[in-house]
Amino acid sequence: MSEAGKYIECCEHGKQQATYVCQHTVLSLSDGVARGFWSAEPEVGDERPDSWCSACEEMVNKTGGEWNDESEEFAGVKLICGACYDRAKQLNIVSRKKWWQLWK
Ligand SMILES: [Zn+2]
Ligand SMILES: [Zn+2]
Repeated sequence: MSEAGKYIECCEHGKQQATYVCQHTVLSLSDGVARGFWSAEPEVGDERPDSWCSACEEMVNKTGGEWNDESEEFAGVKLICGACYDRAKQLNIVSRKKWWQLWK
């Protein structure tokens, strides 16, 4: 693996940046249902931080705002390509607010 980051081969988008999202976000990509899109604020060099859905966010809040075994199992984090990640993000933009500003 190079320092430039990990890549995966997406059957739809070809070679792309590897990103991590919860299994529910992956589900949204196939059924088109927005389930919320949460992540740390994107930064230069990390434009696609790990993301999870509202159900996972709720789960984490319930357990004191920290990820634990239970919430991680619930999230069932999956590896998806950067283009799929962007599509999931797009799907969840419901207001003029930038999606990462929903993070508080
Ligand atoms: Zn989730
Ligand atoms: Zn893809």
